[in-house]
Amino acid sequence: MKKAYYGDFGGQFLPESAMFALCELESAFLKFSKDKFFKKELNMLLKTYVGRPTPLYFARNLSKKYKHEIYLKREDLNHTGAHKINNAIAQVLLAKKMGKKKVIAETGAGQHGLATATAAALLGLECEIYMGAVDVQRQTLNVYKIELLGAKVHAVQKGFKTLKEATTAAIQAWVGDIENIFYVVGSAVGPHPYPKIVTHFQSVIGKECKMQLKKFGKKADYIIAAVGGGSNAAGIFYDFIKDESVNLIGIEAGGLGVKTPYHAATLSKGKTGIIHGMKTKVLQDDLGNILPVHSISAGLDYPGVGPLHAFLFESKRAKYYPINDQECMKALKLLCKEEGIIAAIESSHALAYLEKLCVRLKKKSVIVVNLSGRGDKDMQVIKEYK
Ligand SMILES: *Cc1c(COP(=O)(O)O)cnc(C)c1O
Repeated sequence: MKKAYYGDFGGQFLPESAMFALCELESAFLKFSKDKFFKKELNMLLKTYVGRPTPLYFARNLSKKYKHEIYLKREDLNHTGAHKINNAIAQVLLAKKMGKKKVIAETGAGQHGLATATAAALLGLECEIYMGAVDVQRQTLNVYKIELLGAKVHAVQKGFKTLKEATTAAIQAWVGDIENIFYVVGSAVGPHPYPKIVTHFQSVIGKECKMQLKKFGKKADYIIAAVGGGSNAAGIFYDFIKDESVNLIGIEAGGLGVKTPYHAATLSKGKTGIIHGMKTKVLQDDLGNILPVHSISAGLDYPGVGPLHAFLFESKRAKYYPINDQECMKALKLLCKEEGIIAAIESSHALAYLEKLCVRLKKKSVIVVNLSGRGDKDMQVIKEYK
């Protein structure tokens, strides 16, 4: 496998002017990710600031209902409310070590923007966040938090005004001042080395999960995670990929249904193409134009997917299924009622798959769901959902 690729997927499809920065980033990552002091500082921040390790919680009521052993990896308990901070704090620390003064980031639901603004405030770097104008409206609480933390929010008015356009705007800003800016990518997407960097920093989720299962004397039969760009899924999957006895399941946003045009089910319905500097699966028309996407969750509303998932999908090592808005909201409410946990709408897509999986399993199984985030940011959307 070429190092910039996962099988056929990945690569660096950006203008020549970005290549120097990608090279610089790769060598800094290779150096610092092995550096004793960097690792020590990062681990200390993860432990004392982010709140890691996050618990692996045995969901007794849900287990009783579904007649299997269900565990939740509680990424919702991280500082700022989702897994995004694991990667954001590591990349901002890397930016600081590289001597950069300013970080920028794209954001959909605002969780990555919030995590990056938080890490920038902590580590003393200037910060600007690119967010689609539609998302600015549906995630007002996160926008306000980001500004309170001292970062500037750019509402991107182009195209469909969501995550794809925000990402394009962030790449443009970065390429325009590549020497001074560090671009903190929020998911396992983009040109090499970003998918590898993000997967590396998120793989702490799977590493902890493996040890925690061992402490319970258990072994996972199934691991389920929601897939937007694919970082929380990559993070919990990564250390289990080699162990073929563990079934890996990624859940995409089925929106109003994959038979309608209103979804973001990239692996179920996409074709190989190029988006945001990577070769991967993309939702596109016959001419290769990227299609509009829909999901009730801003964090899954993306027409591409990280190259690792395109590879796991093609090689069939992981399976990917869509869950629609309605199924997701039902699962969100069920978790509130059964376990007293208000999950993010993104994470609720993964939870909703239990309803489909559990009835078809003959043998009593151990199932881990990655609870990627908490629902505080979604209260308005949940309230208005009919
Ligand atoms: C951003 C986000 C996602 C989707 O992003 P991935 O990179 O696919 O993990 C899922 N859950 C939550 C809570 C998020 O904030």
